[in-house]
Amino acid sequence: MRLAVFGDIHANLQALEAVLADAREWMSCERYLCLGDVVGYGANPRECIEKVRALGCLLVRGNHDEITAIDVSLEGFSPLAEEALVWTRKMVDAEQRAWLGSLPYRLEEAGIEAVHASLHEPRRWPYLYNQDEVQMSSQHQTRPVCFLGHTHVLKFWRVPTPDGVLEPLTRLRKPSIDALPLELLHLQTNYLYTLNAGSVGQPRDGDVRAGYLVFDDVQQTVVPRRVEYDVELAQARILEAGLPRRLADRLTLGK
Ligand code: ZN
Repeated sequence: MRLAVFGDIHANLQALEAVLADAREWMSCERYLCLGDVVGYGANPRECIEKVRALGCLLVRGNHDEITAIDVSLEGFSPLAEEALVWTRKMVDAEQRAWLGSLPYRLEEAGIEAVHASLHEPRRWPYLYNQDEVQMSSQHQTRPVCFLGHTHVLKFWRVPTPDGVLEPLTRLRKPSIDALPLELLHLQTNYLYTLNAGSVGQPRDGDVRAGYLVFDDVQQTVVPRRVEYDVELAQARILEAGLPRRLADRLTLGK
């Protein structure tokens, strides 16, 4: 069975539709796992919520989903994110907010688990940028593979078990597009994997294309996919909605 693993959609309907079409038509995915942040930043929160709901997929909550669902302070968010979240709260209806607020922080399945930010203190939304932070997350791992998102940067790590030292499976080089592990990853036994799926709707690794992963549980492989979508239309929607221009601009910068 092939599982499409995707997250950080950020209300970018054009990117989401392109990813779902690629997963279905090219990669023959039959199941879907959403890593959260369905909303925030982009212009189509309502439509993205309904598209993801219609998949009936495995799902965890992201920090933007949570902040849209509940009336808590927006302290800690950048001014750009804050402006978009105030707008997003107005756009989604009460029923959609309740759905966002019902999503679990993490989930476990046969052989895999998923969380938006980190298995270590998932409710505090830490960013896994450095080795120590990833190692902390993997210490809480109960399955061989953990999928996560949040940084919007596609990256893989593994830890030999038991008690091994974490090793990154992708080396960062410039231009950053070279750093992407575009080939498939063969999962081996005796390792714990932490796999960041990148972002559907707002990639920040220098590649403007929508990103997601395909996990094959029989072959034990993971394929990173990048999919072209109508970036200009997504940008036009953001401007029409009256959202900050920088949110539109960053889609062509890939950061
Ligand atoms: Zn995000």
